[in-house]
Amino acid sequence: APLAILTIDKQGNILTTNQMMLDFLGSPSKEETMKINVLTFPPLKDKGVSAQFKKCLDTGNKIKFENNYKSKWGKTLYYRLYLNPIINNKNNITGVLAIAEDISKDKKYEKKLLDAKNKAEEADRQKDIFLANISHELRTPLNSIIGFSDILKEDENLELEQKKYAQYINEGGHHLLKLINDIIDFTTIKGKQIKINNEYIETKDLIASIIPVAKNQFYHFNKKNIELITNSTDKIKDTFIKVDKIRFTQIATNLINNAIKYTNKGSIILNYYTKNNEFIFTVKDTGIGIPKNKQKIIFERFRQADEKLSREYEGSGLGLTIATELTKLMNGRIWLESTLKKGSTFFVAFPIANKNKEKDNKKNNTTKYNDNEYNNMRFTILLVEDNVNNKIYIRNILEEYKFNILEANNGKEAVEIFKNSTNIDAILMDLQMPIMDGFEATKIIRNINPDIPIIAQTALAFQEDKENAINAGCNDILTKPFSKKELLFKVIKNIKV
Ligand code: ADP
Repeated sequence: APLAILTIDKQGNILTTNQMMLDFLGSPSKEETMKINVLTFPPLKDKGVSAQFKKCLDTGNKIKFENNYKSKWGKTLYYRLYLNPIINNKNNITGVLAIAEDISKDKKYEKKLLDAKNKAEEADRQKDIFLANISHELRTPLNSIIGFSDILKEDENLELEQKKYAQYINEGGHHLLKLINDIIDFTTIKGKQIKINNEYIETKDLIASIIPVAKNQFYHFNKKNIELITNSTDKIKDTFIKVDKIRFTQIATNLINNAIKYTNKGSIILNYYTKNNEFIFTVKDTGIGIPKNKQKIIFERFRQADEKLSREYEGSGLGLTIATELTKLMNGRIWLESTLKKGSTFFVAFPIANKNKEKDNKKNNTTKYNDNEYNNMRFTILLVEDNVNNKIYIRNILEEYKFNILEANNGKEAVEIFKNSTNIDAILMDLQMPIMDGFEATKIIRNINPDIPIIAQTALAFQEDKENAINAGCNDILTKPFSKKELLFKVIKNIKV
C-alpha cells in the first residue's frame, strides 16, 4: 500500500503494520515499532494522538486529523491520519485501523501559497494606503487652484477672455477634485473605514430628493439633445427602505452622471417601483450601450467598456465600483441591462423594510451622520479680533466664499475655543488685543497643535514685529489694511487639507 497503515487492539498495542509506516517513522524494524503502545507512548500522548485513538475506540466514530510529528527515531513530518474502528461480527469494537498519509510537501506548498497570498495582500494594502495618501496630498494644491480661480473668475479687473480661462481652470480643478474624492471613497470603502448610517426612509421622499440632484447634473452637462423624464409605474406610498440617504444619493448620482455622459441624444428616464418585496430604482438611457462581454467587468475597479488610450469618454472607472460597494453595504443589489447603440438600464434594489420599525429607529438613531468631509470644501476659520469693524469686514468676505467662521474677541477666548473644537482649519490672529495678545495665544495654540495654520493679521508694520509673530509660531502675516483678494489669498494658501 502506498499509505502507512497500522492496527491496534483495545489496549493500544500495535498488532500489524506495513513497510510504509516504518519509512514514515524512520523506524529501523518492525519489532522496534511494535514496542510502541499508542495509548501510553509519551510523545503520542503529548501531541493528543493517543486521545484520538481512545476516542475512536470508545465511540466507534471515524476520525480524521492533521498534525506534525517528530518520531522516536528523529523523523519529522506533517501527516494526515484516518482512524477507523475495527468491529467484529458481534458488533463490538476490537481495535483501530490507522492509515496515515505524509502531507509534508502539501503543507510546504500551502505555506508558500499562503506567504505569496499574504505578500500580495500586503502589496495591495500598501498601494491603497499610497492612493489614499497621495489623494490627500493632491487636495492641498487643488485647494489653491479651485479657490484662486474662483476669485479670478469674478474679478472685475480682468478681461472677459481672462475670466474665461479662470473658469476653465476652475472646471478642471473640480474635475480633478471629483476624481480624488472617488479615490478616497474607494480606498475608505476597501479599507472598511467608511461609515454607513442606515435609516428607515420613505422611498417617495428619497426619490423627491434625487430629482433636483438629477436636474442639477443635467444643467452641468449642458447636453441639449437629451431630456430627463421621471416616471413611476407604481403608486408607491408608505414604502420604507433602510439605507443611508447620502450614500443612496451618491449611487443615484453616479448612475445618472454616467447615463448623461454616455448619451448624446434621446432621454434619461428615472423610474422606481416595488417588486417581490424590493424597492427598485432604475436609470435608463438611450446612449451608446455596453457590449455583452463588458457588462460584468465595468463593475470592477478602474475597468471601462472602452479601454483604449484614445477612448472618447474620460473617467476613472471607479464610479460603478463605488456604487456597487455602497449598494452591498446597504444590503442591496445592482445590475444592468444594455443593448449596444440602443441604451442601458441600471437597476438598484433594496429590500422593503418593515415600516413599524421606523419608530424604534427614531429612538435609537441618535448618532447623526457626519457629512462626507471630502465632498464639500467648507473650511472653518477661527477669527481672533477685538475690533468690531474689522471683524465684520473679514467675516463678510470669508462668508461670501463659503467659509465657516468662529469668533474670539481676544487671545484667551481663542485658546479656549481652539481647545474645544476639532474642525478648525486655520486661525486669523490679531496681534494686539486686550486680556491676552496674539503672540501669547499663538504660542499656547502652537504647543497644542504644531500643524494648524495661524495667520497673523496686524497693523504693526515693523519688520521686528513680523519676526516676533513668526517666532511665536505664526505661519504667515497679513498687514492691515488688506484687500479682499489679499485676505483670500493668504487664507487659501495656508489651509492644509
Ligand atoms: P467611468 O465612467 O468614470 O469610466 P464607471 O465605473 O462609472 O467609470 O463606469 C465604468 C464604465 O462603464 C464606463 O467607462 C463605461 O464604459 C461604462 N458605462 C457606465 N455607465 C454607462 C452607460 N450608462 N452607458 C454606457 N456605458 C456605461
